[in-house]
Amino acid sequence: MSRLVVVSNRVTLPQKSGDAPAGGLAVALQAALEERGGIWMGWSGKSSGAKEPAPLAMQTHGNITYALTDLTKTDVEEYYHGFANRVLWPICHYRLDLAEYGRKEMAGYFRVNRFFAHRLAPLLREDDIIWVHDYHLIPLAAELRQMGLKNRIGFFLHIPWPPADVLFTMPVHEEIMKGLSHYDLVGFQTDHDLANFAGGLVREGIGEALEGGKLTSYGRTFKGGFYPIGIETAAFADYAKKAATNLIVRKAKQSVEGRDLIIGVDRLDYSKGITQRLDAFEHFVKSNPGHHNRVTYLQITPKSRSEVPEYEQMQRTVAEQAGRVNGAIGTVDWVPIRYINRSIGRPVLAGLYRLARIGLVTPLRDGMNLVAKEYVAAQDPENPGVLVLSRFAGAARELRGALLVNPYDIEGTANAIARGINMPLEERQERWGRMMEHLLEHDVTRWCNDFLRDLTAT
Ligand code: UDP
Repeated sequence: MSRLVVVSNRVTLPQKSGDAPAGGLAVALQAALEERGGIWMGWSGKSSGAKEPAPLAMQTHGNITYALTDLTKTDVEEYYHGFANRVLWPICHYRLDLAEYGRKEMAGYFRVNRFFAHRLAPLLREDDIIWVHDYHLIPLAAELRQMGLKNRIGFFLHIPWPPADVLFTMPVHEEIMKGLSHYDLVGFQTDHDLANFAGGLVREGIGEALEGGKLTSYGRTFKGGFYPIGIETAAFADYAKKAATNLIVRKAKQSVEGRDLIIGVDRLDYSKGITQRLDAFEHFVKSNPGHHNRVTYLQITPKSRSEVPEYEQMQRTVAEQAGRVNGAIGTVDWVPIRYINRSIGRPVLAGLYRLARIGLVTPLRDGMNLVAKEYVAAQDPENPGVLVLSRFAGAARELRGALLVNPYDIEGTANAIARGINMPLEERQERWGRMMEHLLEHDVTRWCNDFLRDLTAT
């Protein structure tokens, strides 16, 4: 079996005892690396004022060598905050209004990818299989090929891929599409993302979709596929079961005092539709007076990317809105919305999901949305809750037992909340059972194996 080399912007180092458990993706990648032996390379998260960062920091644990590189402050500013998070992220989430182009940032993005390639190449063997992750590193294969590398290289995009008309608003869209054609396998989350990518190649007259999932563009033939990422379903269900004795979960249960709990869990990000969701909740309460003082909505929203102005602004907007809605519909003995602006560990989160009658997952656009899958995995089979899910999350392509909503339709989302709260046990069990069966079968280990199988076969 060939050695595996994983490259991603950030690397998850092995857990020390007492650390919070790693997310499903890290667990699956570490397992694949451990089995085959390999390297996981990425940015250390540190930046220095030096012109050239220190050499790679190497750590070996078992069969895996972690290779971490620092970046310069300018690199982080241009490559990470600048191009990745202020151009590619909004564009891939269909928010061309939020993309901020700058030549300097674009140049920085390509420069850091070249730098990654130069640091990685000396570590590689001829038959290594290379798996590059996510939008930060699209041009990496092109850089490696330029250095003469012939290895199999796969790419997986964790976020959505937009339709041609959105993508083409990005001045360097051509280089980005060309970058992807240097891989042997390009994987997306859903069939829609893959179709958008293939459609873009055709529209621009630079490529076409051939038989058997093959694509051709810029003189290269490569494979495109979709691989919806899963979670560690069984482990997550187990966390949720065990969390019943956790102090925080017990306190939460006690404090809702028999009301129906609605839960929302999202990084503070404009793609998550948090403000529309708060509007929908307010509308639900106002139009269902019978539910006054009978529901509690818990929104857990860790801060993220506070260096980017839109995120900083959003933090204020959401906090103000939660306060305003509570002021408008709350009473002396009822705080309808509990807003937590901090991260909660996944084992506790699992217990909170299980307490919740409704999981409200309504992103405006999301590559997959793991919270939706975790909410389902955490339910009590005897008395499962209802998932209200945006049709614009990748997860909606799989979780057909959810109540699918259009998050831009505030009244429609409010109606789905009402329907979920009133749903009879039998229907809840039937819907949940269908989704859980799918999630058990398509967990993150299967995702990882499917991708590597197809990459190996290219
Ligand atoms: N998460 C967490 N603590 C929190 C909020 C979120 O551990 O307080 C985790 C959550 O369990 C999930 C991940 O963060 O595994 C979020 O993944 P998702 O795909 O939903 O969204 P992303 O943040 O990647 O856009």
